Amino acid sequence: MSSLEVKALTSNQLDILKAKLLEEKKGLVFTMSEIDDLGLANKDNADEVDAAMNDYESSHQLRFRNREVIYAKKIDKALKKFEKEEYGLCQECAGPIRFERLLARPTAEMCILCKEETEKEETSNFFGRQSKSLAKTVDLTGMFVR
Ligand SMILES: [Zn+2]
Repeated sequence: MSSLEVKALTSNQLDILKAKLLEEKKGLVFTMSEIDDLGLANKDNADEVDAAMNDYESSHQLRFRNREVIYAKKIDKALKKFEKEEYGLCQECAGPIRFERLLARPTAEMCILCKEETEKEETSNFFGRQSKSLAKTVDLTGMFVR
């Protein structure tokens, strides 16, 4: 038995991950409403607050909020995959993603092999062809294991 073997998720594991995603989403909505409250509070004191500082504050909040919105979209995308029974499958090789990996990052869309391959391509483009043939070897290993 290879330690690299990745089993498909059980329905129990799927339930755990779905609950985790819903939990994370709840957390985000809470943060977003908190930001709205902050925004209103700032407007009430607008006369006393330095205008430049106010601009900085709201742009900072906007950036933070955008990041939350992007993450919320990722969560929604992951939740939709449950309906199509595609959750936990790598979008690159369609192989199962390890449960431990999803537990740490429930919005993960790639298995660790494909993710590493993508990162290798991103960070070491100057290795050129050599890096690509290496990546192919890794991919083949993944297919063999599957
Ligand atoms: Zn993969």
